[in-house]
This record gives sequence, structure tokens and C-alpha cells, in this order.
Amino acid sequence: MFDVQAIRADFPILAHTVYDKPLVYLDNAATTQKPRQVVEKIESGYYNVNANIHRGVHFLSLAATEAHEEARRTVRRFLNARSSNEIVFTRGTTEAINLIASSFADECMSAGDEVIVSVMEHHSNIVPWQIEAARRGIALKVIPMDERGELRLDVYRSLFSERTRLVAVAHVSNVLGTINPVKEMIAIAHEHGVPVLIDGAQSVPHMKVDVQDLDAEFYVFSGHKVYGPTGIGVLYGKEEWLDRLPPYQGGGEMIASVSFEKTTFNELPFKFEAGTPDYIGSTALAEALRYVESIGMERIAAYEEELLRYATERMSAIEGIRVFGQAERKGAVLSFLVGNIHHYDMGMLLDRLGIAVRTGHHCAQPLMHALGIEGTVRASFSFYNTKEEIDALVAGVERVRKMF
Ligand code: PLP
Repeated sequence: MFDVQAIRADFPILAHTVYDKPLVYLDNAATTQKPRQVVEKIESGYYNVNANIHRGVHFLSLAATEAHEEARRTVRRFLNARSSNEIVFTRGTTEAINLIASSFADECMSAGDEVIVSVMEHHSNIVPWQIEAARRGIALKVIPMDERGELRLDVYRSLFSERTRLVAVAHVSNVLGTINPVKEMIAIAHEHGVPVLIDGAQSVPHMKVDVQDLDAEFYVFSGHKVYGPTGIGVLYGKEEWLDRLPPYQGGGEMIASVSFEKTTFNELPFKFEAGTPDYIGSTALAEALRYVESIGMERIAAYEEELLRYATERMSAIEGIRVFGQAERKGAVLSFLVGNIHHYDMGMLLDRLGIAVRTGHHCAQPLMHALGIEGTVRASFSFYNTKEEIDALVAGVERVRKMF
């Protein structure tokens, strides 16, 4: 489908060895490796266009401002948002959800109001709502899942009441890989006049996302999971909603005028970007988005689906394996346990073979409770992974199984 070896050449870290073994990096759901193009963008940003943005009149400041705003336009195009005013840079998914939880609750929620989340949410999409619950007496309602790891839409429909103010769900589960039918879920919420926030941390790196087609009010993702730098992410919000919500943090840049008597706030999107933004991070994120676009999101999705199909087939043949997440539509994530082998033991022994997987609860403890387990071993794939690497994983797991 595409030349994987040529792509791997863009990611110097993939050529590393660990413990004298070739590195097999299968922890992409936690963070992705960075292509040369992104790292060079950071370097060239600091060497050539570094100056604080927006308030400057000098050459460098104007150039840095233009680069940052060009990055915003790139994100707008990538998500197919209507306007660049709808793109707010944050530190990542977590900060974007906290922003919405705080500002939305301020504007739209009072004691007794309800937020619907799902059982498979990352802690980032649970705890901010619990903080608001403790502050304001709002309640969380939870969509359960079936034994395949698909959300129960029949129950979801029954959770709406006249107190439902927001639905907040993940597009793709970071543990089960389930691709939730968010377009349908958004339409159901809209039938009740309820806005929706989608956690796109695990979807944006792997599939084409069109926020206008989905019709979500809010959509968030992290740069570091889509081959960009750490410390930068995106909140997309429909302009009428972002206009309505109060600022999350106060400081420079987010104001129109300040006096001790009265302060007025800046227009969108600056109202939500207090302080010096990560203008180097934003331009490197834009570079990462251009990089994945140059491969093509459809090709990425097709290749990763093929990797997942191959991995699932080969791993399922291992004696005593349990795979968690058997949804009809799945992202490139494979969570498993083998016999009674503790997930940490499996992870640490695979590490000695050069294979990087993640173990534990994956910041989804309520999901672990629902599954009746403490944690899993998770292999998560990227377009730079190969079938040979999956063979190495299978051989490694077999070897560990035999040791026990
Ligand atoms: N939501 C999901 C589904 C995730 O997988 C993650 C990260 O693993 C997050 C939110 C949090 O992302 P970040 O730590 O980049 O803010």
C-alpha cells in the first residue's frame, strides 16, 4: 500500500536497538514517535523565527505570529472546521477537556444537572467532570458496554432526561480500540437538544475526522499522539458555543482591555489562550498533520486495519490468551492477558526482548472494573509498524508464556 521502509527512514528512533535487540515500538496509543520533518521544524523555529507573538511590531515577531496563525489554519483544514476561530491551542486533550468542563459548567450547569459519559472513558474525560460534580452538585451518567466492548446505544438513549446538559465520549477507546458510532450518538444527543464533546485523542492519528460531518459541538486531541510534539493539543468548538462560554484562564493575550474597574475579553480564539502560547509547538504540530496528510489518512487507516487483522489472527492462536475488545469496528489497539501471567511481568519480559508495550489500567480504571481485571498488556500500532514486528511480538509472548 505504501513503502513502510521509506516511512521508517523518517523516524530515526525506530532504528535503535535496546538490550542489543531491534526496538519494536508498539506503544503508539501512549505517544507516537516523531518524524525528522517535525523535529527539524522545531529546530528551525527556534533558530529562525523565534520571538513572542501577537503583540510585536518587529520582523521576527510578525513572522512568528504568522507561523502560529498558519498552523491554526492547517488544523482548521485538517479537521474541516468552518473557521480558524474555532481552533484553540491547548496543552493537549486533558487540558482541552478541563477547559470545557470548567467553562461549560460555569455557563450552563447547576446542581442536579447531568453529563453523560461512557464506561470506557480515559480518566481525562471522567475526573474533570467529577471535579465539577463536587463543586456544583452535577451528576454523571454512564453508558455501559456489551461483552464485545461496544457501547449500549439502547441504554444511551434511555439516559437522557430534562437535566442532561452534555454528552462527553471518546471517539476510539484507548484500551479496547472500539470505534464508537459517534456520528449516530451526536445525532441522538441533538434530538434532545444536548451538545456533545468528543475525545479524539485516539481517533485523529488514525482516521479522517471531519468535525462538520460529525456535527460535534466540541472535539479535542493531543499533538503528541499524532506525530507532533508534546505539550500542544487542540480544542475545536463550534463558534457559537465558544463565543458563549467564559474564559478558562486569565492573563495576557486573552483580554481586549484591562482596568481595575473592568476587564473585557479578546475575541475568539484568543479568549481561550491566556499567556504566551506554544507557538513553536503549534507550527510543529501543523508539520505533523501535513506529514500524515502526505501519506493519506485513508491509506493509513487501511494499512493499520491490515496490521490489526494480522495481529489479532496471530495473537488469538496463542494458548490461554484473552483479547479485550472484540468490537466490529476497531482501531489499531490490541489489549490482552495470557493465562495467569501478570501484565507487568509480561510487559517487563517483552521489554527485555526489545518490545515496547504498555501495561496496567491505561488510565481507564472504571473500564478495568467493568471487565473485572486490574490491567492488560496493550500493543498499539502505527503506520510505521510492520508485520515482522507483529511476528516478534507473537514470538515474545509465546516465549514468556513458556517461561511461566
Ligand atoms: N483520552 C484518551 C482516549 C487517551 O487515550 C488519552 C491519552 O492516552 C487522553 C485522553 C489524554 O491525553 P493527553 O495525556 O495527551 O492529554
